[in-house]
Amino acid sequence: MIAMALMTNPRLLIADEPTTALDVTTQAVILDLMRTIQKKFEMSILFITHDLGVVSEIADEVVVMYLGEVIESGPVEQIFSKPRHPYTRALISAAPNYNGSQESRLPVIPGIVPSLFERPAGCAFSSRCKHVKSELCSIDRPPINLGSTNVRCFLERAGVPEKFEKEEVATTIDKKRISKSLVSIALQVESVSRKFVKRTGLIRRKERIVQAVSEVDLEIREGETVGLVGESGCGKTTLGQTIAGLMDPSNGKIKLSISGQMREISNLPEQARRDVWQQIRFVFQDPFASLNPRMTVFEIVSESLRNGPSRIENRRLRQERVYEVLERVGLDPAQSDRYPHAFSGGQRQRIGIARALAPKPKIVIADEPVSALDVSVQAQILNLFNDLQNDLGLTYLFVSHDLNVVSNISDRVAVMYAGRIVEIAKTNQIYSSPRHPYTAALLAAVLTPEYKPNKSQREPLQGYPPNLANLPPGCSFASRCFFARSNCHHIPPKLECDDNGGWAACHRKNELSLTGLTIVS
Ligand code: SF4
Repeated sequence: MIAMALMTNPRLLIADEPTTALDVTTQAVILDLMRTIQKKFEMSILFITHDLGVVSEIADEVVVMYLGEVIESGPVEQIFSKPRHPYTRALISAAPNYNGSQESRLPVIPGIVPSLFERPAGCAFSSRCKHVKSELCSIDRPPINLGSTNVRCFLERAGVPEKFEKEEVATTIDKKRISKSLVSIALQVESVSRKFVKRTGLIRRKERIVQAVSEVDLEIREGETVGLVGESGCGKTTLGQTIAGLMDPSNGKIKLSISGQMREISNLPEQARRDVWQQIRFVFQDPFASLNPRMTVFEIVSESLRNGPSRIENRRLRQERVYEVLERVGLDPAQSDRYPHAFSGGQRQRIGIARALAPKPKIVIADEPVSALDVSVQAQILNLFNDLQNDLGLTYLFVSHDLNVVSNISDRVAVMYAGRIVEIAKTNQIYSSPRHPYTAALLAAVLTPEYKPNKSQREPLQGYPPNLANLPPGCSFASRCFFARSNCHHIPPKLECDDNGGWAACHRKNELSLTGLTIVS
């Protein structure tokens, strides 16, 4: 796509969310490439994105828009170190990043962006602004240059506080209550593999086996959140879907705790299978494509209550359950007769979560549930996941390529590479002191929404993951690993306990001194 855009030697390249769907390492490579071609072709780039970490990495100047108008603009250093507009400040505060704690809530911007057809009379942000002065802000539209900088806010006249500090939100997450139950295992994955047959050749007669997931072992405890991270194609979504029963494992066992006993739930007969899989529910990535546009919200959420083991025969009781679960996820039951297109992205993801919760599951597997949402909506949904776990004691497997998001919600993090878990440990151990070179490479590519004077000093991870239809004999990461020795190319490392209390699949796990992330305050 970038090559096509460069065909005419443009003076200006407009890139619309070019890295949004990419994992951190591919994102780093694309950003590096864009910087190189910008220098070579001496062109300007208009980079459109909702990812503040990417903005702080690539931009020289930043323009912040809200409801169709520019509300602040300036050099990147000024926007991230001394933001002026309340919306810019709230956005930067809402972006998740590694802060060493999984017990804090993200600050959210109340309400939703008004419709362009119902634009407020005064300042476009007035209905959501915590500094609003109604006698001023709700009457006239502020001009862009009230102060010395380009800021569309009346507070510039009064003078907003110069020093910007990220908003703090008092924690309401009582993980201590949950941690008492962290001793009981909710789900056990034993040596699970998942293969696909790929047909190639002119008449598609050649068969190749693609090993998407290889011999994965994983335990998740009751009330725990395990984050599952890795590059695109590493097998994390396939593993999540296999655990959720959306596909069968090719080998291995999946066991669920039922009445205190671990019972195998893979390869069950059809009826028993339907009964048991209601306990594990899936939240899909795309809040637009995952909801049937021809069904009302009520029909979508009540689907699992009309058939199967969670069936509620009585219409009134079924309606009560749907209303209860809609309220629980912050939706108005009075709107349950509407269709999905009438809702915003964040509201649609809430509908997806309500659908998952309706049959009262024990385990929720969420596959990139916030990757399609902008920063402020993302913060609301992450807080909702945390609140639901706190109140209902849910167990989560949270699949994501965004390490900032995963650090906010996970108790432990599992890192996947080429179909295998290569490291698993408590979140703080993984982020501050990784033991696998691949984990360290992922962390090095994480972008945080803060001003960094030395942006171009990052070394993106080179090379590509191996072909899953032809895996190398030794360590799958060896061809990209800076620390590989000859035995790494021949002997596959096992996932074993490291000297930090976690588990890593690397021959050199206890001798390397790898760099993690420093806590962003
Ligand atoms: S086993 Fe060798 S190649 Fe693999 S990650 Fe460790 S050092 Fe690198």
